[in-house]
Amino acid sequence: MDLSSPVTTLPGIGGALGKKLEKLGIKTVFDFLYHLPFRYEDRTFTSAVDRLQPGETSTVIGKITSLKNEFTHRGKFIQVGQVTDGTGSINVIWFNQPYLVKSLAKNQGIALWGKVDYYKNLPALVSPDFEIPSGILLHMGRIVPIYPETAGISSKWLRTKIHHLLSVMDTAEILPPDIDMPGWLAALKDVHFPQNLETARVARNRLAFDELFLLQLASLIRKDIWERTRLTHAFIVDQEKILKFMNNLPFSLTASQNRSLKEILSDLSLSRPMNRLLEGDVGSGKTVVAAVAAYVAHLNGFRTVILAPTQILAEQHFQTFSAMFKPYGVDIGLITGASKLKIENTKLKIVVGTHALLSQNLNFSDVGLVVIDEQHRFGVMQRSRAAKIGETPHTLTMTATPIPRTVALAMYGDLDLSVLDAKPAGRLPVKTWVVPEYKRESSYKWLNDQMVKYASQAFWVCPFIEDSDTLTSVKAAKAEFIHLQEIFPRLKLGLLHGKLKAAEKNDVLDKFRSKKLDILVATPVVEVGLDIPGAALMIIEGAERFGLAQLHQLRGRVGRSQIQSYCLLFTSDETGITRLKNLEHLDSGMELAEADLKYRGPGEIYGTAQHGFPDFKVATYDDFSLIEKARSVAQKTLPKLQEYPLLRQLIKEDKIHIIEPN
Ligand code: ADP
Ligand code: MG
Repeated sequence: MDLSSPVTTLPGIGGALGKKLEKLGIKTVFDFLYHLPFRYEDRTFTSAVDRLQPGETSTVIGKITSLKNEFTHRGKFIQVGQVTDGTGSINVIWFNQPYLVKSLAKNQGIALWGKVDYYKNLPALVSPDFEIPSGILLHMGRIVPIYPETAGISSKWLRTKIHHLLSVMDTAEILPPDIDMPGWLAALKDVHFPQNLETARVARNRLAFDELFLLQLASLIRKDIWERTRLTHAFIVDQEKILKFMNNLPFSLTASQNRSLKEILSDLSLSRPMNRLLEGDVGSGKTVVAAVAAYVAHLNGFRTVILAPTQILAEQHFQTFSAMFKPYGVDIGLITGASKLKIENTKLKIVVGTHALLSQNLNFSDVGLVVIDEQHRFGVMQRSRAAKIGETPHTLTMTATPIPRTVALAMYGDLDLSVLDAKPAGRLPVKTWVVPEYKRESSYKWLNDQMVKYASQAFWVCPFIEDSDTLTSVKAAKAEFIHLQEIFPRLKLGLLHGKLKAAEKNDVLDKFRSKKLDILVATPVVEVGLDIPGAALMIIEGAERFGLAQLHQLRGRVGRSQIQSYCLLFTSDETGITRLKNLEHLDSGMELAEADLKYRGPGEIYGTAQHGFPDFKVATYDDFSLIEKARSVAQKTLPKLQEYPLLRQLIKEDKIHIIEPN
């Protein structure tokens, strides 16, 4: 048996139990050991029988001196007996468990945990938990772990099995011995069966450290491999031509765009591939930075592939890039699930596509740059496949997810990081109001004025129930579309949702972009990347259903020009107003993510698949000092890897995914 063996290889765990355990996410022995308590119950209080007080809950250790079934007048069984411990006796009763009479034979040593109450006017332990002591007590007389359970899998059962497993494990140690923490097995024992809550905390910390350490080590190894990769053809960065390209843009770059670009250009001139993450809040102008990099690739005779997570966004990038590269006669193509184009049949210098591109399993020696926009929307496998579109392409990944630097280090330790920390000049913060139901009518009036008098355009986003594009949200958007036509009879409305055909989506977006529509009623499909600078109003229905960071993303669709934009958050949930009001005074994604942390916990933000972060079993993303410690231990360990056979084995078996880039 090793840690990756199926849990069903453990004695006494057959297929049926295996299925139940799977419901708890337990498939392997490792999963089983890491099925950690979500809380502990303090059952240390133990009392002699003659000291028991009615109303008190206590552990009692003694003997069963009698136990028999009695019929109640309702035709049910109760089990009535006596427990003695040398200081005295007390009654004990259970309900409807006739088998206990046999299994708890007379004169058997027993430990009980329960409340002293009255039965037929006499003090009695009523329905206590019990345990037949065999050396040590697991279920009482101690701090007792309480686990996530499912039908047929109780905490009591888990405790027994996990305790047994821990007692037969041999002490495998993966960490360098000189860190100041309990050993791995000791930590597992302490986290399941702690002396006190402090030992549990220390143990949990150690297990969290392991996860962070392995992640760090994996990314350092990747970085090491990456840095030793040599390009067959290093780019020449022609500053003069780049300056000309930038001068042809309709705006000049911001200081932080320039800084990031400088970092990127310096990467591009090296003889090893770039592996950089460009992080910038919504609207900070990441696209144009990627475009300059694509231009450099083009000047060097290499192609660029740009990946976007949605067809809408791919379409938009296609248009943006086409406009920017028009003066240079560069062929640009769009490949989505809907298009017939095949990259291999083309001479396209820049290819914009969705994940449909990845399903073609491409590998072109002349692809010199791969850009992955909104990278958290791509799965790990997709991202690693993307990097293989070329032979040794430079990769630039981009995200608007606000990741604190430490978290970025934890997550993407192998990536170099560039941050766009300012928006283009002249941008006004989007004025944001939380609008309770009773103000709905008056805001309709105000909105109508804005749209009629000032020709403002509006996104009108309808809530979703689960993920961003469920049927329910489509239904809601369709209904709202009809409803809003009645409210705003003089305005032109369009409808956008994920279930539309590609051509229909493009058609409605084109109309909105060219100001033929006043209101675009939409599901949250508009959340990522959409750039329609003319739109200045963002109305969000059912705002309470969204996380703050996500509302910020939605709001980021407006405020993309120098006109004043507004965001109205409709909500009928009075209790959620304080949380939503954060958006009225906070303007940066980072601050809002931090506020979100308070309301929803780090798991919701940094632990969700939505953001592409790995799921830790123990660690969290908010323990920065532990993340830093993990990083420094990993750095010290990397050159001495030979000394840690178990670590080497984990790496060899690819348990820590060293080949998965990003
Ligand atoms: P994001 O970082 O959210 O992807 P975009 O790249 O879509 O942002 O840029 C947002 C908008 O800002 C676009 O309309 C873009 O043309 C514009 N923009 C980008 N950089 C600048 C700049 N330096 N000055 C003015 N506008 C800019
Ligand atoms: Mg973008």
